[in-house]
Amino acid sequence: MRQLIWFRTDLRVQDNTALNAALAAGPTLALFLVSPGQWQAHDDAPAKVDFWLRNLAELARALRALNVPLLIRKADTWSDAPAVIREICRIHDIGTVQVNEEYGIHESERDRQVRACLGADGVDLRSHLDQLFFRPGSLLTQSGGYFQVYSQFRKVCYQRLHSALPSCLPLPGPQQDLGIPSDVPPCTVDGFPAPSEQLRQLWPAGEAAARERLDAFALEALWCYDDRRDFPARAGTSQLSPYLAAGVISPRQCLHAALANNQGEFDSGNPGAVCWINELLWREFYKHILVGYPRVSRHRAFRQETDALAWRRAPDELEAWQQGRTGIPIVDAAMRQLLATGWMHNRLRMIVAMFLTKNLLIDWREGERWFMRHLIDGDLAANNGGWQWSASTGTDAAPYFRIFNPISQSQKFDPDGHFLRHWLPELAHLDKRDIHDPSALGGLFGVPGYPQPVVDLSASRERALAAFRDLGGRT
Ligand code: FAD
Repeated sequence: MRQLIWFRTDLRVQDNTALNAALAAGPTLALFLVSPGQWQAHDDAPAKVDFWLRNLAELARALRALNVPLLIRKADTWSDAPAVIREICRIHDIGTVQVNEEYGIHESERDRQVRACLGADGVDLRSHLDQLFFRPGSLLTQSGGYFQVYSQFRKVCYQRLHSALPSCLPLPGPQQDLGIPSDVPPCTVDGFPAPSEQLRQLWPAGEAAARERLDAFALEALWCYDDRRDFPARAGTSQLSPYLAAGVISPRQCLHAALANNQGEFDSGNPGAVCWINELLWREFYKHILVGYPRVSRHRAFRQETDALAWRRAPDELEAWQQGRTGIPIVDAAMRQLLATGWMHNRLRMIVAMFLTKNLLIDWREGERWFMRHLIDGDLAANNGGWQWSASTGTDAAPYFRIFNPISQSQKFDPDGHFLRHWLPELAHLDKRDIHDPSALGGLFGVPGYPQPVVDLSASRERALAAFRDLGGRT
């Protein structure tokens, strides 16, 4: 019986569980659905959609080498998916549709509907664990619930990894030519304007590019990751997040690259490698949270009592934050990095998120949405987890009274101001002492061309503390 591998956020042929399963079971066709209405509803960024399409073109080439024809169909929203896939199954006499699991509530509902629709024709939808090391629901607390605390979750992950390390799959060999022509992947999709060439060049598409990035990182930067990962001016992190989010590389491939550079150890040995593997487990943790606590998929706070917080409506301040014009250099530089590259360094994501939710006291959902609309690595679970952590509304959240001071963070993590100078040319002439806080220079107008701070840091900190206290000591 013929097989259909339905590619979603797993745009690769190497170490792809569903693809291997399909090719092992019979002659295989591949499918990708173009879903602009759904992508818009999910706030997927144009840069991310462009990255998907560029990777789809690379995937088409890789599938050609395996003689797997790639069909590309439009299903504007996922409610159209069952009918579109059913039609393909009828035309091509498909017996089984193979997919890798995805975890948001819309993704789960889509798969449930597709399964029910195909089931009526006797076609199976078979789903595989692939995005994660462990299936959500398979790692639970002693009382049977999903973990809410990362360190406890990680401990159980370590135990499991010690007893059974997930291995990478071999690349399947080519099948016999089925004589079915492949569709040509679109270069653009209406509603998602192409990003600049500079942005594209930062994120070359394809498995080979992802692998090259992983190998270079493992060889050159992994050993000092723990020391360097917090300094945005240094290339201290892997910058693999867009590739992991689109499934151009698998977490297993990442884990094994780290193990290969750490004598096979994941919780001892080189602190850089251990620290990086911990980040892969944070990724895992937030996806488990998405399944265990579906309210976070619905834009609700993980800590429900914080839904009562009196967030401010301050459209001008929100816009200043979005456009990198708050007058706080580290915040502005970070937000400009996001707009120009589709990516932001993790330390900066925390700084700008705390600034928005604490100093400006603006609802974390505004920040979450803006990030999704601009990140090339936008991922519901990680983005929501990061925002709720920063806003003190989530799992493991920063205690509400621990509020980053963006100026001190800037002095600590960009001590020479290299990052600030790169993104804020109007401040480039300032020395490494003044550049973190030009408003302290005095003078009536400050630095020409650069705004005065939109908010007083210490008064706004007090305002945030009071707002959290007003929740009645429930936090
Ligand atoms: P590395 O430091 O090299 O880490 C390796 C991989 O581990 C990353 O590629 C990523 O897949 C994973 N990872 C690292 N840190 C985290 C984390 N804290 N949570 C979950 N996974 C992590 N990450 C996203 O992939 N997509 C998002 O939409 C996203 N939004 C965020 C929003 C906020 C407010 C915050 C504070 C963090 C967010 N993160 C998000 C997590 C983190 O900032 C990025 O994964 C990281 O900056 C990506 O850079 P890198 O690939 O160089 O990471």
